Formats: sequence, C-alpha cells, structure tokens
Amino acid sequence: MIAATAAGAGLLVCHACGLLSRLPAAGHHPACARCEASLHERKPDSISRAWAFLIAACVLYIPANVLPVMETGSMFGAQSDTIMSGVVYLWTSGSWPLAAIIFIASIMVPGSKLMALTVLLVSAQRRSTWKPLERAKLYRVVEFVGRWSMVDIYVAAILTALVQFKALATIKAGPGAIAFGAVVVLTMFAAESFDPRLIWDPLKRTHG
Ligand SMILES: [Zn+2]
Repeated sequence: MIAATAAGAGLLVCHACGLLSRLPAAGHHPACARCEASLHERKPDSISRAWAFLIAACVLYIPANVLPVMETGSMFGAQSDTIMSGVVYLWTSGSWPLAAIIFIASIMVPGSKLMALTVLLVSAQRRSTWKPLERAKLYRVVEFVGRWSMVDIYVAAILTALVQFKALATIKAGPGAIAFGAVVVLTMFAAESFDPRLIWDPLKRTHG
C-alpha cells in the first residue's frame, strides 16, 4: 500500500534545490553537494515550532475578537466596534452579504484553522494512524486558505472607503486589528512549520 520513500532508501531531498543525496554516515552533518544547504529528513523541530506559533495565535485570537478593530469618529460622536459588533451592525442595517463575508473571513475561517492545526499537531505528536488521508487533505486546505487570509484586509479597506464616503467620518484601526493581523500571520507560520510528512511516518513503521 505504501510506496518506497526516499528516507527509507537512505536518500535525502534538498529543500532548497531538490537534489537527491545519499544519507551520510552518522555523526556527519549532511549538506547538499550542489547548493550546500543543510539537509534533513523532516523539517527540524517541526512540531514544537508549529505549537509555539499556534499557541501564540490562539492567545491573540482573544484580543482580536474582544478589542475594537475599528474606531469611527463623526460629528455625531465616536464609536468603536469589535469584529462581532461590526457584523451585528451590518446585519441589522441590512448589509447581509457584507455581514456574512466578514463573519466567515474574520471569525469562522481563522477559528477553524486554529482548530484544524490543533487536530493535526496533536495527532502527529501522538503518532496517530487515524484517517491519514483526511488529515493530509485537511492540511492542504489549511495551507490553501492561508494564502487567501489577507482577503479580509481588503474587505476592511473597502469598508473604510464606504464609511468615509457615506458619513464623512474618520476611521482608524483599533488594537484588535493588530491582534487580528498577528493571528493571521502566526497561523500561516504554524501551518508552514508543520511537516505534513509526519502524518504518514507512523504508518510506514506499522506496515514495515
Ligand atoms: Zn541543494
């Protein structure tokens, strides 16, 4: 069922240039013969690095949702909005599509990514053999979504333009926006640190 792997055949692939090298004798620090990048079978300290980024992202997810992301001031007074109060405001004022986009992009997607990465990390750490194909696909979704996370920043920019156009108001990003940006970036780093091959390693050992 499982095909031969490079590591199983005593070979290493260079992460920088793709050259296949033979695993050197123990004690030698392996380096690529062509580009001199250091070689490793798996991303070094993949799980602990991913946990560090993930925990930081989870901690910042709280201020991102509790602190105001937007502070608007107009001649009628100042107002500050969290992501959720902004969604509620848009929903009650009839902008349902915009409310839905912001709810999905700012609350659901980042929250689901944090949960998905937790599942991936816990299962990889415990060397679980549970549903590897589904977990590999889950990782690809998380990685794919990461590239589009900044869509939310564009939504915020468009929103800013709309508010300024309509109400002659001043609008600035609140501290929650900084926390939110940090959550997005840290989650991308966590996904990048995780080595998806760790999903398949326990199976290789079981199947021999
Ligand atoms: Zn190389």
